[in-house]
Amino acid sequence: MIKTSILDAGKLQAFAKERKLQPFRIKQIYQEIFNNQNIDFSQMTTLSKDLREDLDKHFSVVTLKVDKLLEDKTTTKIWFQTHDGYMIEAVIIFHRQDEKYNKNDEEKLNRITLCISSQVGCPMGCLFCVTGKLGFKRNLTRDEMVSQILFANNYIKQKFGKQEDGSLYSVRNVVFMGMGEPLLNYDNVKKAIEIMLRQEAGFSLSRRHITISTAWIIPWIKQLVKDEIPVKLAISLHAPNQTLRDKLMPIAKAYPLDELNKALSEYVNASDNRIFYEYIMIKNVTDKPELAHQLVALLRKKLAHVNLIPYNKNPAIDLVESDAASIQAFKKILEDGGLTVTVRDSLWRKMKWACGQLGYEKLIK
Ligand code: SAH
Ligand code: SF4
Repeated sequence: MIKTSILDAGKLQAFAKERKLQPFRIKQIYQEIFNNQNIDFSQMTTLSKDLREDLDKHFSVVTLKVDKLLEDKTTTKIWFQTHDGYMIEAVIIFHRQDEKYNKNDEEKLNRITLCISSQVGCPMGCLFCVTGKLGFKRNLTRDEMVSQILFANNYIKQKFGKQEDGSLYSVRNVVFMGMGEPLLNYDNVKKAIEIMLRQEAGFSLSRRHITISTAWIIPWIKQLVKDEIPVKLAISLHAPNQTLRDKLMPIAKAYPLDELNKALSEYVNASDNRIFYEYIMIKNVTDKPELAHQLVALLRKKLAHVNLIPYNKNPAIDLVESDAASIQAFKKILEDGGLTVTVRDSLWRKMKWACGQLGYEKLIK
């Protein structure tokens, strides 16, 4: 039997009413989950033993099953199984304090980012992306997305415990850069973000610490503006002109570049947020100097930051990563043109663990 998600407020209310529980009990349950970062009812010691057992019979906190977990000092990758047998993935990234500021041997843990999936597979079929090669299976529910954070917070608590100020270590940044295209699962992503931002029965994350990465699905970018969803936006641009873009991201032919520009201007005007543009560095495909000049012309007058992502190679796709010299030359043209630029650091890029590699194992099976 599939248990009900504890985040189903209606079902939890009905459960509480049937048992004549005081309203503060529900608050206590959510505090155990979100503040104390517990995912097993047996760990929730502020609740009576009877209530814990009763809850355990009817509800689950994390609605995904952990299939496998791989960890090292800077990254933990988790494979989750959904109730209907699909695999999805999330990656926790531990940013440590720069060694030069740190006199101790043990580098201090600075902040923790979680990269979550929004779909099983992805329908966009981008040329360079392993997830795209898997095809699309289904959207994740709100609670499946939230479950990835709940599990990560419990794992982080067990691994690191409390910070100096006495609060528990937890996920501080959430990025929708795992499997799937978040804006094609708009309603559920929106509901998951509500829980991320919520103070009560939520993660109290700052809106600046949530990023939607999207392969430029224009109608849904407009919807984001309309619904005033205040989170950060990363646009997977990858090409400064329509011809190259159509080649790399074939399904997006329906969304012309000038329309994207209009939608993004609306977003910037409404939110005052700067937009992060992701640009993949593939040898002899996206890294030519003339493309850098085109990118400058496209973005110069905008509130923009460019993130150059060296292509993560894998055997299933016949493309090659740009060499370091080409990346630096490309970066220089952008900077000379007045853009701010970063090259994505190595934490994100470990083979098989990083963006565009999610689903890799499944593909090679
Ligand atoms: N579908 C969304 C979010 C998931 S992909 C999107 O495309 O934005 C997260 C990021 O990884 C995107 O910027 C995507 O373009 C990038 N990516 C995909 N495959 C990659 C690869 N092989 N190497 C490097 N980055 C890749
Ligand atoms: Fe989907 Fe993003 Fe991969 Fe494209 S890059 S196939 S949109 S997950």
